[in-house]
Amino acid sequence: MRSDHRLLVVHAHPDDESEFGAGTVARYHAEGVRTVLVCCTDGGQGKVRNPDVGAVGVRAADVVEVRRRELEAGAAIIGFDRVVRLDFPDSGSVGLTDRPASCFARLPLDEVVRPVIEAIRLERPQVVMAYADDQRSYPHPDHLRAHEVALRAFEDAGNPEAHPELGPAWPPERLYYTVTSRERRKAINASYVKMGLAAPFSQQVGFQGRGDPDLAPGRERVTAVVDVKGYVGVWIAGLRAHACQMNPALDEVLGIPPSRAAELFAEEEFVLAPGGSGHEDPDSPASDLFAGI
Ligand SMILES: [Zn+2]
Repeated sequence: MRSDHRLLVVHAHPDDESEFGAGTVARYHAEGVRTVLVCCTDGGQGKVRNPDVGAVGVRAADVVEVRRRELEAGAAIIGFDRVVRLDFPDSGSVGLTDRPASCFARLPLDEVVRPVIEAIRLERPQVVMAYADDQRSYPHPDHLRAHEVALRAFEDAGNPEAHPELGPAWPPERLYYTVTSRERRKAINASYVKMGLAAPFSQQVGFQGRGDPDLAPGRERVTAVVDVKGYVGVWIAGLRAHACQMNPALDEVLGIPPSRAAELFAEEEFVLAPGGSGHEDPDSPASDLFAGI
């Protein structure tokens, strides 16, 4: 057990915690790592996708409350020890024009980064996990913003001159980007096609932005690969907790047998961001985000 290790994860919306890097979080939680989720937005632009829950394509009147409950359930299943909800207004999906100035993507960076710095200084994680610098395969404005916010918070949390009112400085050692490489997407696609199913990573973006392989970071950028074989069922259960956002009949991951999913999604990939310590050889990626800590 590794009770001295602490991981802080920055996500954009309720449901992202159960998808991106979720198997890794589940594994670390099980191994005794303290795991903290910072969820930046309230998910208030999310429309119902599941006909079992309500009218598809319609935003429920109490969408923020529904997604708050789903977030609590999903995060508990994944194994987050604490959830910090920032509740900035959801900026709405890719392609939307006319976003309000009060949404997460448009508020001043300095304003939205403050609570993340505060959470890092309070929780003192050695490792921070966030979205990558290259999100061309799913350029959701809140995900792009969450990357900027995590990067700035990672840099400023350890600087005693930056926002001294937010607590004593704490420099996390590493920032890791959660990715699914071009090569892994293609391999998973090929396995689906072999099963007679549609390729999940395509331009026809699926539920969680399982986007075009050619727009994803290449394997040559991956510096850590975490074995999550025993935890695939955990994050799939987390996804199911987001009932209003998941349509089990359409979702690619929920639509295959659990044992097959466990094989196909048995590893999660990460890119070490510049500016921290850590192992940086893509030819022999680290198997542990805390290696050497
Ligand atoms: Zn999201």
